Amino acid sequence: MSTTGTPGVRGLETTALTKSFGGVRAVDAASVAFHHGKVNALIGPNGSGKTTFFNCVTGLVKPDSGTASYRGEDITGKPPHRISRAGIGRSFQLCRVFPRMTVLENMLVPVRSRTLLGRLRSARQRTDVERARELLARVGIEHLEGTEARDLSYGQQKLLEMAGVLMADPETIMLDEPAGGVNPALIDRIAGLVRALNAEGKTFLIVEHNMDLVMSLSDHVVVLDRGRPIAAGTPDEVRDDPRVLEAYLGI
Ligand code: ADP
Ligand code: MG
Repeated sequence: MSTTGTPGVRGLETTALTKSFGGVRAVDAASVAFHHGKVNALIGPNGSGKTTFFNCVTGLVKPDSGTASYRGEDITGKPPHRISRAGIGRSFQLCRVFPRMTVLENMLVPVRSRTLLGRLRSARQRTDVERARELLARVGIEHLEGTEARDLSYGQQKLLEMAGVLMADPETIMLDEPAGGVNPALIDRIAGLVRALNAEGKTFLIVEHNMDLVMSLSDHVVVLDRGRPIAAGTPDEVRDDPRVLEAYLGI
């Protein structure tokens, strides 16, 4: 099934996106349109293809068939740096930080891969270090800038990864299980950040198992089951959808 995006603004869309691993159709002809400017959630049981969908859209995995586009531009099968340049940033389900580098050093790693325009813009405004410190403060870990990442709690590492994603100033931010394994106080902080950044114009696409978080944060929810979108709508619409209950509860 497909859904309509925000009228007039095309964001991230896929058409019949498909990726198999051996005999498993991890993503199976998924046609989805996320709402640009909104907080979107992609939910579904374990193994329903959420991470593979993210990987196909962000260039880590080449889809077997189908298309992905962003703001009308075809991004199917493009390498990650091209997709980043198109304005999409992402975090990983299993947090990706460099354990033996300090928090501040971790923040400066992605700078090398940033776009020329982004570099020029940031050079005009402030140095990368200043920007890194500002973003660390924004996620609430500026006091840890000299600490090696391996000494952070898992939740703090997730905040560091999120701050790192923000260094490239993406227009759309994809988060894969931002609250997984994170303590409740930090979950609240992550939720607050998503709300604030969305109010500033960032689009979000979030994969998350914490249903309270999904339901309270999202404007639009897409449900995957065995690689296929089976429902899409507001949190209330999706929660009451019998197909969703069936996928989750097997009833
Ligand atoms: P989710 O993120 O929703 O839990 P995944 O996208 O990780 O789901 O996995 C979807 C399906 O694809 C699962 O059956 C999983 O075992 C399979 N899968 C994912 N990645 C690979 C891979 N690299 N090699 C083989 N099978 C994979
Ligand atoms: Mg996953």
